[in-house]
Parts: sequence; C-alpha cells; structure tokens
Amino acid sequence: MRIRTSTVPPHASEGHPGRNATTGAGAFVYHGSLAVARSIERDFTAAEKYLRGDSIMSRTFDHLEHARSTTFVTGNAHDDDHYNFAMKTVAWDPHSALQTTSGGRQSPALGLGHELVHADESPTIRAHLDATYDPAYDNREERRVILGAETHAARTLGEGTRHDHGGRVYHVNSPTVLA
Ligand SMILES: [Zn+2]
Repeated sequence: MRIRTSTVPPHASEGHPGRNATTGAGAFVYHGSLAVARSIERDFTAAEKYLRGDSIMSRTFDHLEHARSTTFVTGNAHDDDHYNFAMKTVAWDPHSALQTTSGGRQSPALGLGHELVHADESPTIRAHLDATYDPAYDNREERRVILGAETHAARTLGEGTRHDHGGRVYHVNSPTVLA
C-alpha cells in the first residue's frame, strides 16, 4: 500500500480480475507475465519506460514480466494504490501523485513502482515482514519497500524520498509528472 491512510479500503471482495466475466477476454494486455488492464495500458507503458530509468525498478519489471505466475495490474481514479497479495493484483491510480510528509513530491509512476516491489517479494518473506510492526513505517515490509527500492528510484529520477508511510495525494494529468 502506498500510504497508511487510503481513501478507500482495498477491494478484496472484487474477485480475481482474470476470472471476472464482465471484463471480457481482451480486458488485459500481457507484458509477459504482467497482465495490465487495457484501460490503463497507455499510462502503464509510459510509467514503465520512466521507471526503467532506475536500475532496481528495471530489475523489478524484468522479474515480474518473466515470472512463472501472472501478476495483474488494474486501474482506478480514486487514489487507491495497493497490492492484493491473495489476488496477485496491483491497484493503481495513474493520476494520483503524492506529497510526502516532508513536502517532497512523488509521481504516480513511483506509486506503481512501490506496489510492483511488493508484488516481486517472495511470499514467505513478505508474510513475515508484513506481520512485523514498525513504528515509523507500519510494518517491516513497508519499511523495506520505502527505504529500499522507492528511495533508490526517487533519487535516480529526481523525486522526493520518504521517512514514513504517510503522505497526501493530489491529482496530476500524467503518470510521470510531479505537478
Ligand atoms: Zn506499500
């Protein structure tokens, strides 16, 4: 999850997007093992190109695109960035940027990158880290993602870095801009 206080709860009850009859067979565009909702394909492609400017993010895309199992990416327009582990599904708002607690700015693309790093972690390690409380980052998994890949990519791409799991969301017109 990108920030501690999401405006909406994770949509765990929606079911597996790949088995949702209403979405139809052509609803996803496959980037190897990454299945991207067609409605956000253009934004996703722009975000991937941008994030691949960072070595850790580039490796994360490589891992997920060549993984044995499929990871889904769905879009929304209500600032809901999270990873549903049970459904192997990333939710992403391509127009939701983040102002950090210290006043820095992060692009929607970096929010996607954050969730993909959750998705790329080994299930066993992730379950353990998720269950371990951390006073500043809520749990050790958020701490790992924020201080690791997110900070690395933020520095490479000239975005703000975080020292907590908070922030305030705001709207931008493209996934790769800060304002
Ligand atoms: Zn997170």
